[in-house]
Amino acid sequence: MKVTVFGIGYVGLVQAAVLAEVGHDVVCVDVDQRKVDNLEKGEIPIYEPGLTPLVKSNFDAGHLKFTTDAKAGVEHGELIFIAVGTPPDEDGSADLKYVLAVAETVATYMNNHKIIINKSTVPVGTADKVRAKVNDTLESLDKSCGFDVVSNPEFLKEGAAVSDCMRPDRIILGTDSEHAEKKLRELYSPFNRNHDKVITMDIRSAELTKYAANCMLATKISFMNEIANLAERFGADIEHVRHGIGSDPRIGYQFIYPGCGYGGSCFPKDVQALVRSANAVGYTARILESVEAVNYDQKEKLFEYIMHHYNNDVKGKTVALWGLSFKPNTDDMREASSRVLMERLWEAGAIVQAYDPEAMEETQRLYGDREDLRLMGTKEATLNGADFMVICTEWQMFRAPDFELIKSKLTDPVVFDGRNLFEPKRMTEYGIEYYAIGRGLSV
Ligand code: NAD
Repeated sequence: MKVTVFGIGYVGLVQAAVLAEVGHDVVCVDVDQRKVDNLEKGEIPIYEPGLTPLVKSNFDAGHLKFTTDAKAGVEHGELIFIAVGTPPDEDGSADLKYVLAVAETVATYMNNHKIIINKSTVPVGTADKVRAKVNDTLESLDKSCGFDVVSNPEFLKEGAAVSDCMRPDRIILGTDSEHAEKKLRELYSPFNRNHDKVITMDIRSAELTKYAANCMLATKISFMNEIANLAERFGADIEHVRHGIGSDPRIGYQFIYPGCGYGGSCFPKDVQALVRSANAVGYTARILESVEAVNYDQKEKLFEYIMHHYNNDVKGKTVALWGLSFKPNTDDMREASSRVLMERLWEAGAIVQAYDPEAMEETQRLYGDREDLRLMGTKEATLNGADFMVICTEWQMFRAPDFELIKSKLTDPVVFDGRNLFEPKRMTEYGIEYYAIGRGLSV
């Protein structure tokens, strides 16, 4: 099928590559000329496991094309995906300017029936706005064309995006059009062979499903962080508590890890956006407001431990920081906990020596050259001349480090672990002082 994807980001690029891989003819449109040029040279703008070979092979085979030519893009696709960003507005609500700009572009260039599919995460009612924008534009151009608007939210996880798109848990289709449903079922049929994963519903329910899913996951994290904060005060160990509650199948072990807060491009903005959408219909989303507040404080946690340990004085200290991305297997630094920590440490006069397997280029781009940030080639190199160590991201390669080396290199053998990677007892045996989340120590 002929497909066009507007927005070559984490969602658009992965979805486009996966659709091309199963045989669809996909054109990707972005406003970023540099991104398009780089992709045509085989340079993939993001790190995502398995993505590079998928993009390259389908580009070489001619199934996947990249362009800034919106007109050509609109003319190509009978199915047109909107996968552009929906960043938070000043007040936290989702900014729809990119989504509506694409709607206008599609209307400007369409000359036959199009199915416009919204993949971006958008507030309930956005499909109506897209429909209105297309109608207004068509009217202003004195054109008349049929079109459908479908809500098809994306549930991929960064770090596992290719496999999530290849083997989705579910495919949500919010539509009131039989024609659109039939076409989308056909589009997704290669991913729907094992059992029927397509769940159809009305458009508003589909839009809300995406927010509900992300807000539920964020709630699980903030809930566990709240219990971890209580465990610290009660002298309990959150890791025992986690095992204890996870064994109940109604709760389960997934997504109940305490830590130094959630980040990324989705949970923080989607929780905020649903809180604002709720306000707009006269409802106070009290659980979600608390989820956001708990997370905000949790991102300060490591800095609080550090300041407690050093009597509020880290001026001139050098910190070995392991992990910069907001979670493992991605280079995404949006809303990462490491950023809050680094910014606090810099304000307090400390120097950060950091290592991350994928996010160092992005860190450099965000913070530029500054004397108090040193990006090191290996995790071990961060220890050279460092006073203490901090872990912000649970990359696999950090899970079994050389503790003897850590102890011998640090001036003050203390580790602040925002992801609870190690056993406190073993750390004591190694002679390393260990601060983790919810493991008995309250500051
Ligand atoms: P992104 O910021 O990585 O990419 C967005 C792309 O859209 C950019 O390349 C930008 O240049 C392009 N763009 C902006 N305006 C455009 C226009 N008018 N025409 C063509 N291209 C345009 O964003 P992302 O992380 O892929 O997220 C996209 C949407 O998907 C958001 O709504 C997000 O909430 C949602 N989502 C993201 C994830 C995730 O894990 N990143 C998962 C599920 C859903």
